[in-house]
Amino acid sequence: MTSLEQLQKSLRVVSIPLRVRFRGLDRREVALVKGAKGWAEFSPFVEYEPPEASRWLAAALEAADTGWPAPLRDEIPCNATVPAVTAEAVPAVIARFDGCRTAKVKVAERGQSLTDDLARVAAVRDVLGPDGQVRLDANGGWSVDQAVDAISRLAPFALEYVEQPCATATELREVRMALARNGIDVRIAADESIRKAEDPLRVARLEAADVVVVKVAPLGGVRSALRVVQDCGLPAVVSSALDSSVGIRAGVALAAALPELPFACGLGTVNLLDGDVTHEPLVPRAGSLPVREVVVDEARLDELAAPPERVQWWRERLGAAWALL
Ligand SMILES: [Mg+2]
Repeated sequence: MTSLEQLQKSLRVVSIPLRVRFRGLDRREVALVKGAKGWAEFSPFVEYEPPEASRWLAAALEAADTGWPAPLRDEIPCNATVPAVTAEAVPAVIARFDGCRTAKVKVAERGQSLTDDLARVAAVRDVLGPDGQVRLDANGGWSVDQAVDAISRLAPFALEYVEQPCATATELREVRMALARNGIDVRIAADESIRKAEDPLRVARLEAADVVVVKVAPLGGVRSALRVVQDCGLPAVVSSALDSSVGIRAGVALAAALPELPFACGLGTVNLLDGDVTHEPLVPRAGSLPVREVVVDEARLDELAAPPERVQWWRERLGAAWALL
């Protein structure tokens, strides 16, 4: 296994501008480290504390030292991601995701209203037409009552599922049961309730969701995420976290290794970044990502390099996360 000293020595930190403000960010800092299997991404969001960051480091070590399980497919269907933009901005956002027939639409954004959500979702349905798939992500922004009301009013747009309508697994269960009582047939997906939870299987035990959204880094790696999906026994969607193409490669490895992949994955997000660490970004073509390696371009690492004080901050962070492995 690569030692901490080797990882810290190999560490490169880039600061990549975002095309559209996302998650309250204008730029994304990404750290890369190198091991026997090549470059690996270690990019927990800057506010994450060491215990959470250590799971991201476990995932990076799997990429650096071990590599990927055998793929079961050679391409991964992907969704477009529509941030909390105005309805007018929707066609241009979706156009960046070449050929994606599924769109994930952000709803319940702080400072916006259900009227904004209805307009945005209507615009997305309009762009995709009746054959496209529309899924929503509330990032836990609604109460149970708000979620039931909002989903009832958004359901006529024919939703594939609604991701994390409320913050907790217990609330997801309540929303799911209320929708069923009201005869509203919309699936609930759990995202934060899986990746932020001490116990990712609680969602399945509570019957709080129909679908689980899984991300490699917060779950500690591809193999660890495969176990979570297997133990949950629910269909899975693989998603990303504003990763560079190196981080996306890990998500592609998970999606390629899952026994079943019934939904498009949220791995087309390199498009949200205005820059990448490779000449050949892992972006969807005709709606899918190929299962292939990513070649890191060191000149790009230089062009996008974060200032030295940020590199030092990441070096210390790497050490703190390592100590908790
Ligand atoms: Mg989500």
